[in-house]
Amino acid sequence: MANNLGDIQVKDLNTTSFQFQAAADHLGLSDELRILLVMPYRELVVQIPVRMDDGRLATFNGYRIQHNGSRGPYKGGLRYHPEVDHDEVLSLASLMTWKTALVDIPMGGAKGGVSCNPRFMSQSELQRLTRSFVSKIHLLLGPSRDIPAPDMNTNPQVMAWIMDEYGKLHGYSPAVVTGKPVELGGSLGRNEATGRGVAMVTGAYAKRFGPALEGAKAVIQGYGNVGAHAAYFLNEMGAKVIAVADIDGAILNTNGLDIKALDEHVKDAGSVAGFPDSEPQDPATLLELECDYLVPAALGGVITQFNADKIRTKAIIEAANSPTTTNADVILNNRGIKVVPDILANAGGVTVSYFEWVQNIQQYRWDLERVNRELENILLNAFERVMDRAVAENVSYRLSAYLIAIEEVVEATKLRGVI
Ligand code: NAD
Repeated sequence: MANNLGDIQVKDLNTTSFQFQAAADHLGLSDELRILLVMPYRELVVQIPVRMDDGRLATFNGYRIQHNGSRGPYKGGLRYHPEVDHDEVLSLASLMTWKTALVDIPMGGAKGGVSCNPRFMSQSELQRLTRSFVSKIHLLLGPSRDIPAPDMNTNPQVMAWIMDEYGKLHGYSPAVVTGKPVELGGSLGRNEATGRGVAMVTGAYAKRFGPALEGAKAVIQGYGNVGAHAAYFLNEMGAKVIAVADIDGAILNTNGLDIKALDEHVKDAGSVAGFPDSEPQDPATLLELECDYLVPAALGGVITQFNADKIRTKAIIEAANSPTTTNADVILNNRGIKVVPDILANAGGVTVSYFEWVQNIQQYRWDLERVNRELENILLNAFERVMDRAVAENVSYRLSAYLIAIEEVVEATKLRGVI
């Protein structure tokens, strides 16, 4: 699909850009401003040769895209996944611009990734890949330039290698990356922050609109960093997590899964599949199970025009980035199924990443109570702003969130004298 943006054609606008355009229409933004805000500031595509354990030389593609830095240094995760490509990274980079603006932390938006399959790579191969990637992109990074963080298939260990490799070239710089192990300057609470934030936002939603979280049925797709922590905290807040899925399978227990026992099972078995106190479920129809809260926490683009009319939930809490396609969004909206958008629902991760950066710059550690209290302040404030504006202007929560975020970025751009 081609869209006219003034005198340039932007082909195949990605999901984030479509959402941006809808909000830009609502705000009456000029074409020249739209072009400025859609186009990324800088893109780097690199070749990453890695000697594999069996002696073969494999060459991977790596990306770092800085979308918008008008509100502060670029910020965004690094994803290791076979489907990583330029368009996906660009879409996720712009999503970060709107997310940091919505929760009002002084950072811009970026994203990166490597097209690889970590499921079939050893730890030493992953370490060589990460170090080689950093050696190619380090000039773009820096505590006041661009600060990566974990995303799919990257974790505190990968962040530690990034800090170490960057440090060899630039000296000790813990603030160059967030989501590090606590022993290396990571923030208390960062590892669970995205899932905790998902639960906080769901709790706030339940309180304001219902159904109450106590006894509510939740279904979660993805049982990695975000999904497993969201399950843990939702369960702690009284919800019954009745079904979960990961890449190897899906499980169901209509009375509610025992999340602590499930976590133990996943530690041993590496997957939710085969958890004794549950029945196997068809992963293809997991999202269609009847529930109160549906939490996609794995890949993007899983709720589409093909399954949106089969979804039987009261609200979707977007823990993953871009889990709902634009066509599906329209169908869900028409069906009255509420969608709490990714840029709000999963913003807990980047918020505590920001706290980690602040702590690294100050060389001072906050205690967990302070991290969680400040996280809650930021998320609940953003939540209320999004909901109030959605109600006042009779628009979807997603549109409301984009309106708020775009206004912040436009104002910063104007104040800098760029326009
Ligand atoms: P992760 O790698 O820790 O976990 C991903 C999970 O998804 C795994 O359980 C994996 O098995 C599962 N999965 C993969 N493919 C699947 C499929 N086809 N069907 C069902 N499950 C599948 O990744 P994560 O960090 O938890 O990220 C999950 C999502 O949350 C991504 O969209 C990511 O962009 C988003 N996100 C992550 C963070 C963060 O702090 N990690 C912050 C904001 C948003």
